[in-house]
Amino acid sequence: MQKIEVLRRWLEEGERIVFFGGAGVSTESGIPDFRGVDGLYRQRFAHPPEEILSIGFYREKVLFPDALPNVAHRKLAEWERAGKQLTIITQNIDGLHQRAGSRSVLELHGSVHRNYCQNCGKRYGIEVVLESTGVPRCDCGGAIRPDVVLYGESLDCEVLGRAAAAIGAADLLIVGGTSLVVYPAAGLIDLYTGDRLAIINREGLSARADLTLRGSIGEVFSSL
Ligand code: NAD
Repeated sequence: MQKIEVLRRWLEEGERIVFFGGAGVSTESGIPDFRGVDGLYRQRFAHPPEEILSIGFYREKVLFPDALPNVAHRKLAEWERAGKQLTIITQNIDGLHQRAGSRSVLELHGSVHRNYCQNCGKRYGIEVVLESTGVPRCDCGGAIRPDVVLYGESLDCEVLGRAAAAIGAADLLIVGGTSLVVYPAAGLIDLYTGDRLAIINREGLSARADLTLRGSIGEVFSSL
């Protein structure tokens, strides 16, 4: 049986499905990943991105307010609408799963669409960053920051706990578009105890997978 057929059958039979994704899920929406062939880490900067994450860099290289969900985001949303018990655990901060209509989404690293004042806690959308120059300021004068997890910061314990529980209870785990090197997020897949772990990626596939599909997420999801 072809690999795609196996995955299709697993999806039909799956009762508690988890899709665990990374930046590769959104490259076909025009948002570059970090470590893929055209990723930010392969572009020529004088310093690695961790060092140059300034507000200007953030606006120019991290925010893609016009990006639209691609076939992977849309299919996942479609399956959830059709009644599948499907949890999406994403390392992405672009909000494209929700934009496609998915509701059961756990954002391990936060979202560029949520911003808050570090002084009074007032919440803002993405517009406050797009429409300001320099660091956006709250009415109270405080600096507004995105609700995203930066290198060295801790993940939200509640989100992490819910992600761990979903993976622990899953009968099918699909991992896609992630290099699985950013921890603690990547470690979550070790909590999967089933025998239906499918990995879809262009490169660097894990030996632990029960099914590996090497290629573009968009192409794989188009044929599901
Ligand atoms: P990564 O850049 O480390 O790895 C992406 C992986 O996906 C690579 O192995 C690449 O070969 C693969 N890939 C890229 N496009 C693909 C496609 N169309 N089909 C199949 N495979 C594809 O990404 P990561 O593992 O998610 O870790 C990077 C961190 O950077 C994450 O924490 C994430 O929050 C953040 N990030 C987020 C976004 C976003 O929100 N869209 C974009 C860049 C980085």
